[in-house]
Amino acid sequence: MADLPYLAGYPEETLDEVRALVARGQLGAHVAKRYPGRHPYTTNKLLQGYVSELRQRHMKTAPAVARVTYDDHVVAVRDALGLHTFESRVHGSRLRARSEMRIAGLFRDAAPQFLRMIVVHELAHLRERDHNKAFYRLCEAMEPNYHQYEFDLRLLLTARELEGQAADQPADQRDDPDSDARANHPDQEERRRADRSRRGRRGRG
Ligand SMILES: [Zn+2]
Repeated sequence: MADLPYLAGYPEETLDEVRALVARGQLGAHVAKRYPGRHPYTTNKLLQGYVSELRQRHMKTAPAVARVTYDDHVVAVRDALGLHTFESRVHGSRLRARSEMRIAGLFRDAAPQFLRMIVVHELAHLRERDHNKAFYRLCEAMEPNYHQYEFDLRLLLTARELEGQAADQPADQRDDPDSDARANHPDQEERRRADRSRRGRRGRG
């Protein structure tokens, strides 16, 4: 399982399919093809509006969310694995107060489905602290495709880890989709890795 940390708990059969895509260097392209769009909520202000609209529609009686921000320090760190750390490092987290929602910076430039999934996830935490049945029922009530989106997000994170940053760009925006992204941009990759390990040492969010 250690080779696919974001996918712990999924059936072995599914993991084998993912491994086959990874082996061909096609996992990122596989996800990108199905999620070519980008949402327009790229600033904290727009994000806040988006969250508050969803909360109004689905979670009216839940506590208000005072502050919503993208946080570039909440990142996918290879060492921070397993469901719960995934939760606090990658999903964005409710730090200090429940009313504060921090969404990982990577969602700023993401498909609308992935932003929706993560916001729905965080909104459900206003009611349910743990990832229990009631929690997932809330997620599905807000977004019927929740589980599909979460799975595909995990694929995307896996692709970013294994195939590099360019993995989730649509193929026609990449220099050469068949080549190794790391080989194309050694400086960028180097910087990203340094950045990542620095963040990894910041402690557990
Ligand atoms: Zn969670």
